[in-house]
Amino acid sequence: MLVVGAISVEAVLAAPGVDTDAPWIAHLGLVCFLLLAIAAWRVSLERYRVVTILNVVVCITLLSAFIALVQGVNGIELFYLWPLLGAAYLLRRREVIAAGALTIAGYGTALAASPQEPGFPVGHFLLFTVATTVVVATVRALSENLHRLIRTLRTSSATDPLTGLLNRRSFDRRFAAAVIDAGRTGLPLSVMLLDLDHFKQVNDEHGHAVGDLALVRFAELLLSQSRASDLVARVGGEEFAVVLPGAGVDQALRRAEQFAHAWRVDRSVEGLALTVSIGVAGLEVDADTTSTLLMRADAAVYRAKAEGRDRVVLSAAAGELRTATRITVSRTGGTRADVPGARR
Ligand code: GH3
Ligand code: MG
Ligand code: MG
Repeated sequence: MLVVGAISVEAVLAAPGVDTDAPWIAHLGLVCFLLLAIAAWRVSLERYRVVTILNVVVCITLLSAFIALVQGVNGIELFYLWPLLGAAYLLRRREVIAAGALTIAGYGTALAASPQEPGFPVGHFLLFTVATTVVVATVRALSENLHRLIRTLRTSSATDPLTGLLNRRSFDRRFAAAVIDAGRTGLPLSVMLLDLDHFKQVNDEHGHAVGDLALVRFAELLLSQSRASDLVARVGGEEFAVVLPGAGVDQALRRAEQFAHAWRVDRSVEGLALTVSIGVAGLEVDADTTSTLLMRADAAVYRAKAEGRDRVVLSAAAGELRTATRITVSRTGGTRADVPGARR
């Protein structure tokens, strides 16, 4: 767009009937636009605001100077919309207001300085101000709506609608990033997989709505017992996962026991005495991938179930993964459905 802008300024000057005392303004425009184009192309995404602000200020100032110095170009003020619409879409609200004020001041000054205008064209200036304000305000409102919508979509695609915890998809992504971080920093990382015991019975005996209530309460308690750095997710119907960056297995076991106790004594869902089976596994950097780590935690959940439920079980070491895999597969009747790590 900046390159197109630079070419148009030069082209306008070459058009018949255009009269200018200062052709340097076009050449200056050309140089500025090309420099800004290079900056916009090279800049990192975090710095785009600085380049956009610079862009808006340079465009509005150059255009105002152009209007003051070049005669015979009708409708040139339409070009103000170029930087203004960019600002309305990309910048913060007060920066958009500042760009609008700069435009009105710049255009007013250009009209007052232009030898083409015998007196200051008040009506024309007011019309320009109102029309520009309406267009920019409309684009701004649309852009704010769009950004709100994008934020909502982003949140809902990353969270589970019932509990508000991370869903399986965002958990997978963030878990993989946490494992890479642990490998890089050398800090420990552990995982807990939690599966509510005999949850089907809750639905059968109390109804689905009570089951939902229990899941929501379970998620609330899990979240309230977690740290800000933990990843807390609902990874299946009545299955949850917590990744504990920075925690070794001893700490993870302690926290799992604390949570199981807190849930056991929680009576917030009336009439239910639900328990949970928890599998804990610690990352072994040289032996584990995200898949094997989750498979080991899942195999530990299976053992907790087999040993009578309502307990915390530490996973086998990564070297014993083959055994863990065999156990997990037999639990799910030979299918992959309940083996989180194996889905990738
Ligand atoms: P186990 O102790 O072996 O884990 O037994 P379980 O009954 O908890 O496990 P099973 O896998 O047999 O049943 C899980 C149940 O969870 C079945 C399903 O109806 C219920 N469930 C899954 N998602 C939801 C949900 O969103 N809401 C409700 N109310 N129930 C759900
Ligand atoms: Mg289950
Ligand atoms: Mg269950």
